[in-house]
Amino acid sequence: MSSQEFLRGIDFKIHDNRIKNLILQTLDNMPPDGLDISSLESIQLSDLSPTETLAALTTHSSFDVTIRNDEGNEWDEIRSRQKITFYLDILNNLSDLAVKAIIAHEIAHAWLNEHVKPESSQQREKDSDDLARKWGFTEELLELENETD
Ligand SMILES: [Zn+2]
Repeated sequence: MSSQEFLRGIDFKIHDNRIKNLILQTLDNMPPDGLDISSLESIQLSDLSPTETLAALTTHSSFDVTIRNDEGNEWDEIRSRQKITFYLDILNNLSDLAVKAIIAHEIAHAWLNEHVKPESSQQREKDSDDLARKWGFTEELLELENETD
């Protein structure tokens, strides 16, 4: 899937041009399989982080839907939706390269939530970095490490 197709299905509200361009560049540098995340509903930018260090957050939630077919049969299915929020005050203190590392890391979270299973753990943080590196963002992640503690 191309980044254009990917964004067509997503509520993409980014009011800062630098961050918007960095997200678009990161998406363009992803392998097509990395954009296969149908449960991702929105990518948003908030001005203020809830903490002094949180640069971004991917949230995942599940909900039930009732499906009814032409024969009148009904059944319930579990669907999931995901949202990525970036925090501008934190990203403003980081270089373009480091911000791209954060973007790739969050997309990796969303991909893992959909294709592996949703969970929050220390291991999941490492898994997301590993996946972002596999997608080609090694240099970006190293720079992020240099700029943060
Ligand atoms: Zn993470």
